[in-house]
Amino acid sequence: MRMKNEKIGTLNPGAAKLLRKQKGKCGICGDYFFPTDRTEVDHIKPIKLGGKTMESNRQLVHHHCHINKTKEDLKEINKAMREKGETT
Ligand SMILES: [Zn+2]
Repeated sequence: MRMKNEKIGTLNPGAAKLLRKQKGKCGICGDYFFPTDRTEVDHIKPIKLGGKTMESNRQLVHHHCHINKTKEDLKEINKAMREKGETT
């Protein structure tokens, strides 16, 4: 099987490390990544909700999983902003 030019094979070192740590599975849906999947590094706890940029708060996820999570994260962020009385 040729791996050339496939997304999983061209991950940056940080993402590749997460992939190994997660044993090849998406941090959100738990399915294995396929070599052709688009992947993204997600902040488990969003930075805007006080999450850290450190590795323990990062996970490798599918692009489509990340979109769904981001929607949910934004709801939480907006809620937190409202509770603080900020308007954004
Ligand atoms: Zn996924």
